[in-house]
Amino acid sequence: MIKENVKRLLGELPEGVTVLAAAKQRSADEISEAIKAGIRIIGENYVQETLRVINEVQEKAKWHFIGHLQTNKVKKAIDTFDLIESVDSLKLAKEIEKCCKRRDKIMPISIEVNSGEENQKSGVAPKDVVQLIREMSSLDYIKVMGLMTMGPRFGDPEESRPYFRKTRELFEQIKDFDLPSVEMKWLSMGMTNSYKVAIEEGANLVRIGTRIFGEREERHN
Ligand SMILES: *Cc1c(COP(=O)(O)O)cnc(C)c1O
Repeated sequence: MIKENVKRLLGELPEGVTVLAAAKQRSADEISEAIKAGIRIIGENYVQETLRVINEVQEKAKWHFIGHLQTNKVKKAIDTFDLIESVDSLKLAKEIEKCCKRRDKIMPISIEVNSGEENQKSGVAPKDVVQLIREMSSLDYIKVMGLMTMGPRFGDPEESRPYFRKTRELFEQIKDFDLPSVEMKWLSMGMTNSYKVAIEEGANLVRIGTRIFGEREERHN
């Protein structure tokens, strides 16, 4: 099933758009199957969960962190992930800088934008993004690779369009500044129910879970 889902999805995406398979709660076998079918990037929300599966996945892929990163998990995260998509404060960036300096490693990151300006959501308010990236561009062990946004969740993906558009505008604006150690390669937006609209609004990285792996089990903690 995963194989067919991936093939169909990859077949319908326009050129220049990359799929990240959002793999929270999925097993190593499920992740392997997705990679064998053509997925090149795996997204994970929890560091501990990733450590449980990553060594069992033999197939080659890039691993992106897309969840909320706590400062006490930074050390593990920089050793595990190829890109941290969800950096949302200077404090977190400085913690990453500190750990990477010790390892003499440059960490690619993206900034998570709270494009809907929702109180309960993580991410940086759109009006603060430029300032934050300017501050980050002086850090030596961080390379800003783009922006990521979730946006408010709607039944109708059309309603997400303004938030994707706003994030795209920020992305272009920052690209034009041409700041040192800021590359603006990835504009990561759109999930299973909204990726088509996100692509129309300029996303070049879409984060897809359900459409690849099927519905998630409800988590009972
Ligand atoms: C789970 C998740 C996705 C994918 O969600 P689906 O609706 O299952 O496609 C994308 N981005 C983030 C940050 C997620 O946590």
